[in-house]
Amino acid sequence: MIVVSTANGTAGIREAMAVLRDGGSALDAVEAGTRRVELNARDHTVGLGGLPNILGEVRLDASIMDGHTLRAGAVGSVRGILHAVTLARRVMEQSPHVLLVADGAERFAREIGMAEQDLLTEQAAARWRERLANRQPPVDPDGIAGRDRLLELVGDARDSMRGWDPAGTDAPHGTVNFLALDGGGNLASAVSTSGYPWGYPGRLGDSPIIGAGGYADNRWGAAASTGTGEVVLRTLTTRSVVLYLRTGMTLDQAMRAALSDLGALNDPLAGHVAVIALTPSGRHAGYAYRSGEHYVYLDGAMAEPEIAAMVQMRL
Ligand code: ASP
Repeated sequence: MIVVSTANGTAGIREAMAVLRDGGSALDAVEAGTRRVELNARDHTVGLGGLPNILGEVRLDASIMDGHTLRAGAVGSVRGILHAVTLARRVMEQSPHVLLVADGAERFAREIGMAEQDLLTEQAAARWRERLANRQPPVDPDGIAGRDRLLELVGDARDSMRGWDPAGTDAPHGTVNFLALDGGGNLASAVSTSGYPWGYPGRLGDSPIIGAGGYADNRWGAAASTGTGEVVLRTLTTRSVVLYLRTGMTLDQAMRAALSDLGALNDPLAGHVAVIALTPSGRHAGYAYRSGEHYVYLDGAMAEPEIAAMVQMRL
């Protein structure tokens, strides 16, 4: 048994492993690990403390997949539900659907009794105000009201999308990824994010899209991604990793092939993507176009998680 996560998953990887050690499933483990990160208000990329979109709304995306049954659940652009990953799992288990978004996902959360709470922390709100104050001309979100306010802020988002450079952004972006292999040989994936800070209202990235942000199939492997969803959505990177494994490629060959597909888009946004993967035999890897990326893993025989460097790909 083993759990693999993005570096910010360090906050939850022990919980995930505790679930496996107690005989829990890979699905339970990835959910438990992700929930711990969603609670971490210091992580401005996920759950509580996540940075808002340009309107100042924290909107969460999450997905989960069971490699045994290939069932999956996801939510996009959800407000006020701290544990978006659990809502994604409920969509999978308590609805006939795979993906619910925005008002409908929030309605479903209320109907199944999930608590609502304000996820915009003071620190996250302060960064949003600072972002608006630093634009030319500056915007004071309290000084404009109603529809004018909306139009002004959305205009700002349109400006910031021109020549969008995630590396040049003034705020952190990211996502948490968890992959797990349980004692019964089952794989699972989970992904949760607050998306790109100051994003255009309604923008969805790769995280809630099965096969883009995450994918798990007991027969071949599991994978999950972080970075610019706009390119991952175009090559369905995590499903690609799994399909490449199915062709008989080694894990390294499959990762290289899937990341090369991103590189072949000839889009500089591919330079921000990082992918982790786990095979049914417990082999794991991380590949990234970003430099200096790391991921974390903890297997059943280890007392503490280890950090591993991702293999760096070049565009
Ligand atoms: N993949 C996320 C998104 O596109 C953001 C990130 O991981 O940085 O929303």
